[in-house]
Amino acid sequence: MRAEHGDFLAQWKPGPRLTGIGRGLLDLILPPRAFDGEPALTSGLSAGAWSRIVFLDGPVCDGCGAPFPFDQGEPLCALCLARPRTFARARAACLYDEHSRDLILKLKHADRTDLSGLFARWISRAAPDLLDEADAVVPVPMHRARLLRRRYNQAAEIARPLARAAGRPYLADALVRKRDTVSQGGKSADG
Ligand SMILES: [Zn+2]
Repeated sequence: MRAEHGDFLAQWKPGPRLTGIGRGLLDLILPPRAFDGEPALTSGLSAGAWSRIVFLDGPVCDGCGAPFPFDQGEPLCALCLARPRTFARARAACLYDEHSRDLILKLKHADRTDLSGLFARWISRAAPDLLDEADAVVPVPMHRARLLRRRYNQAAEIARPLARAAGRPYLADALVRKRDTVSQGGKSADG
């Protein structure tokens, strides 16, 4: 779910890397208050842990989703202005840091696919304008070898309920991963 700037073009053709764009950001969003009244999240995280997740519901760069410290009146951050990207727009839901990492890794590596609906709601809150304009929702694919090891693609697990909630077609195979890549943000080299 996390991605660094850089080898974007080498990995994907065509289209955006929907699972995460930019400087340690994560594709998830929801203001913390939205957790109120949802005790059945079964995330295994305490209320305190939830409260420490930094959701990006303020002004963000329209290009990469990076948060702005204040509404600067410009749609793009300096990085996006300096180096146009291969995707038009991206959104991140929260900071990828020591507080959110555990939750993300649960979905990615610990078979916690029950978290996918929650993440889908976060993303729908992060990017309502993008979803409104979207023709379809497409998950970033996982390389076949890794898919065999992990048995599920966490991006697809999120994209399905996201498409359903947004009333958009879900296109599972619209993107093809051309080569395997080293895992990012995982605790193991296995990815
Ligand atoms: Zn940007």
